[in-house]
Amino acid sequence: MFDILLNFLFPPRCPACERYVEVRGGWCAACLAKAAAVRRLRTTVEERDTIAEAWALGIYEGALRDLVRHLKYQKKMDALPYLQTFLHAVEEDFFRAADVSPHPVAVPVPLFAAKEKKRGFNQTELIFKDWLKEHAIPMERLLVRTRATKPQYGLSKEERRENLRGAFSVPAEKQQDVRGRDVLLLDDIYTTGVTCAECARALKKAGARRVVVLALTSGQK
Ligand SMILES: [Zn+2]
Repeated sequence: MFDILLNFLFPPRCPACERYVEVRGGWCAACLAKAAAVRRLRTTVEERDTIAEAWALGIYEGALRDLVRHLKYQKKMDALPYLQTFLHAVEEDFFRAADVSPHPVAVPVPLFAAKEKKRGFNQTELIFKDWLKEHAIPMERLLVRTRATKPQYGLSKEERRENLRGAFSVPAEKQQDVRGRDVLLLDDIYTTGVTCAECARALKKAGARRVVVLALTSGQK
């Protein structure tokens, strides 16, 4: 009843062009197709020591970028249904193209504890949680960010690397959960790859067999 009333008062609209759509959280087909871009990201020779493959599902621009920002900075949970719809739309392309082991463990890029406490959540976890459950992929917090780091914005790749060096680790009590595992390392935005490379390095050091990065978005085309 509530939904009927809600849909009557606020008919669901595409998050990109605001055209009316069938269900709340839905996109119109044209905007969804425009946002979707499942692709393998470029990694450097050095990054390939730890990252087997890096993938992004969409381009960090337009509605997809706005939805991520709304969730992350304005804590707007109503962005989540749109992101869920997006994940469903691109999942087939991802699983067909990426070399993901049949039983990976998903590990989100962690926030520094104080930052997560302030925000109230880790946005990457929220974005992927339900979707992973549907695919029977467990998500485990096997990484921690061991220190606060400067915002990466505006830093060169080399400065980012310096800023993040040694900032991630697998806690001693979690090492056994990482050893020999295939990890799907999750992030909301893949920018230069430095964050994921540092996380992958910590996972490999703890004995992970193979690390595949899955980012919701990236600016890299
Ligand atoms: Zn649209």
